[in-house]
Amino acid sequence: DIFYKELPKVELHAHLNGSVSVQTIEKVISRKPHLNIEQNMTAIGKGQRRTLDECFQVFKVIHQLVDSEEDILMVATDVIKEFAADGVKYLELRSTPREETKTGLTKKSYIETVIKAIQQCKIDGVDIDVRFLVAIDRRNGTEVAMETVKLAEEFMLSSDGLVVGLDLSGDPTVGHGKDLLPALQKAKNCGLKLSLHLSEVPTQQEETDLLLNLPPDRIGHGTFLHPEVGGSQSLVDKVRKNNIPLELCLTSNVKGQTVPSYSKHHFNYWYQLGHPSVICTDDKGVFSTDLSQEYQLAASTFGLSHEDVWKLSQQAIDCIFAPDDMIQQLKQKWVDMKPQVF
Ligand code: 5GP
Repeated sequence: DIFYKELPKVELHAHLNGSVSVQTIEKVISRKPHLNIEQNMTAIGKGQRRTLDECFQVFKVIHQLVDSEEDILMVATDVIKEFAADGVKYLELRSTPREETKTGLTKKSYIETVIKAIQQCKIDGVDIDVRFLVAIDRRNGTEVAMETVKLAEEFMLSSDGLVVGLDLSGDPTVGHGKDLLPALQKAKNCGLKLSLHLSEVPTQQEETDLLLNLPPDRIGHGTFLHPEVGGSQSLVDKVRKNNIPLELCLTSNVKGQTVPSYSKHHFNYWYQLGHPSVICTDDKGVFSTDLSQEYQLAASTFGLSHEDVWKLSQQAIDCIFAPDDMIQQLKQKWVDMKPQVF
């Protein structure tokens, strides 16, 4: 449906290496034939499902492929252009800085390279504004988290406003949020916005309760917050009291099997409450989707009209991490575009 492509959209939850398209993966593979990696090892096709654990194995394969400044520049540039081609007008990309001794990649040059891709797309006139969230992989523990916050802070001050925040992600079954709390608190104190993956699996209640006290500026997934799936009313109340927007990724959760079906997705629970809920892709490459498709799926599953969908994409503007002038600019863009889309 052309409506969903033409709909101007905001993407707030996109992991760089999970967003790499089949086309780009093929380009990387052709540079590294000795790795013996095939395209079907990096994407989960239509109708296929994996466990969350298997999804994390897929990221490992992609990380093997994307391991130099050159790769990151290409991958980030392609991902930004693909989001733009899908009608995304504002994108917050997140990625975990990695070092690779083989190629001389450092965490610092990793971030610099993503920033370079963002700047190059701007110079090339790609019709999208992009900001960057530096990601903490929870598997790497306290010290790395603290180190990552320091790096993010440096770049927040030196990147002309392109680095706006911090993401907490990685395998939710590993580690505990309490060990990361000091790093997250420090990030918040220095002005970095926080988007945290919370309650992605059912066993994270206590951790979620603790991390909600920060409070974060946005929540990734929040699949098991509400009482109907074993969460609790007190968690829901905390989220609502602080009006913390949720980033919701339908296909990712269905394919990763943390949600049994589209119709049972927690989007409905939060949408019915009128709570700020932002439709996102998570990993458009790995889960073979794009943001237009995710909006269309939400609409067809939950019976949303075009006008409802328009409101949903417009309300996402209020949830971005970039400052107020960007919010105003985007709101104006939505006003200008409405007659073309309807
Ligand atoms: P990267 O940070 O390398 O650009 O993107 C891939 C990484 O994002 C993964 O290794 C993982 O840490 C994180 N990630 C991607 N998708 C998900 C997800 O659905 N849940 C969680 N918790 N982390 C994810």
